[in-house]
Amino acid sequence: MIAQKFPSELDCFLKQKQDEHLQALRRLVQQPSISAHDRGVEDCARLLCSMMQQRGIEAEVIPTSGQPVVYGEIQSPQEDAYTLLCYGHYDVQPPEPLDKWTSPPFEPQVRDGRLFGRGTGDNKGQLIAHVLAAEAWRKVEGKPPINLKFVFEGEEESGSPHLREFVSKHRERLSADLVYISDGGMHPSGDPVISLGNRGIVGITLLARGADRDNHSGNKGGVAPNPVWMLVHVLANLVDSCGEVMVPGFYDDVRPIGPQEERLIEQLPFDPEEFGRTMGLSRVPMGKQKYYRRIMLQPYFNISGISSGYVGPGSKTIIPAEAECRIDIRMVADQTSSDVVDKVKKAVEDVDPRVEVIGRGIGAMEPSRTRPDHPAVDPIKKALQAVSGRQPHVKPSGGGSLPNAVWPEELNTPHIGVPYANADENNHSPDENLRLDCYYRGIRSSARVFWQLAKARAEGDI
Ligand SMILES: [Zn+2]
Repeated sequence: MIAQKFPSELDCFLKQKQDEHLQALRRLVQQPSISAHDRGVEDCARLLCSMMQQRGIEAEVIPTSGQPVVYGEIQSPQEDAYTLLCYGHYDVQPPEPLDKWTSPPFEPQVRDGRLFGRGTGDNKGQLIAHVLAAEAWRKVEGKPPINLKFVFEGEEESGSPHLREFVSKHRERLSADLVYISDGGMHPSGDPVISLGNRGIVGITLLARGADRDNHSGNKGGVAPNPVWMLVHVLANLVDSCGEVMVPGFYDDVRPIGPQEERLIEQLPFDPEEFGRTMGLSRVPMGKQKYYRRIMLQPYFNISGISSGYVGPGSKTIIPAEAECRIDIRMVADQTSSDVVDKVKKAVEDVDPRVEVIGRGIGAMEPSRTRPDHPAVDPIKKALQAVSGRQPHVKPSGGGSLPNAVWPEELNTPHIGVPYANADENNHSPDENLRLDCYYRGIRSSARVFWQLAKARAEGDI
């Protein structure tokens, strides 16, 4: 039987344990785990695994073709219990530039109510919150009210190249009702956020080649082909001046924006001046609906760089030999990277077959979105509201890209993201930090989410 009220002993227990919880996070942050440099990652996996075992979770380090996954489980005695899979990553970004840190990145220090150190917010403080919440349930109530599975990977900061392989290899073991991800920051106001998805990303390079050397634009001009013009013509045929993608079939698989998404957007906060400032503009040059639709629910075809010829001091009158353009395409559900790349290749070939399209396959992430009316959204919302006293903002999707598509694609399991860190956590930057109140609130949030999901299951809602 699941208690009708959230057990108050749990809140007391969590309050008493705050110092211990801070020590646990310190210990984890002290262990470097930089996947980009292969520094300390396996040691960190072993440390995390033993910390989970000490807290009553059956945990093991599972090797992959890359860095290991730390996997853990703790079962609920409840028959037909809900199963939540908590995903996080224990690897961190490189800490450089070191001289920009106030205290060394792997010597965690508390200042002004925040713990500073690489990985505090991204993602060690957030993943351990789930573990500590599970421990609290075990210590106070004997067992958690739902089945919990933990997948903590060691390569997220390097693009999760082996996560799909791991998940597909362990499908049965990982089967769950929902994947729960705490990464990133809350709303700057401190309001909780629920994110139902993310855009995907795929990178391509366009390469135009003319002669095998730069040529004199007078002596050879009009005869030697100019690859910059080739590139310009191709690009002008890919996207129009309003940003609309002209690649045939590009929008075919874009999931339509429904009334539920429109309603969620309606409820999101929007301050055109403040949002503008975060991108170096005096204000966002569009209204709220258009802004959120564009950032969350529509694809974006981006040119991230172009290079060719001579732009140094004075002049150099050449016809360049080569021109290169880097493109990244932010896809939305239900586009796929392979289909999008095929369509772009075909469109480029139709305009100018001399321009080569090179797929930058590594690092592609597929888009993914959980339905706004998914039955787990409501209990999670209730739990977060009970803990923070604030109404959570439900975002139909984030704008950025995460490896979340593996959950529906490999496990047929939807995912919901609930970030626990402060908006100014400085993830990926010097002086990364996690506000202690956010950390403790995150642990309470996990504990409450577990209970609320158990309650919803008992009531037949999920
Ligand atoms: Zn990160």
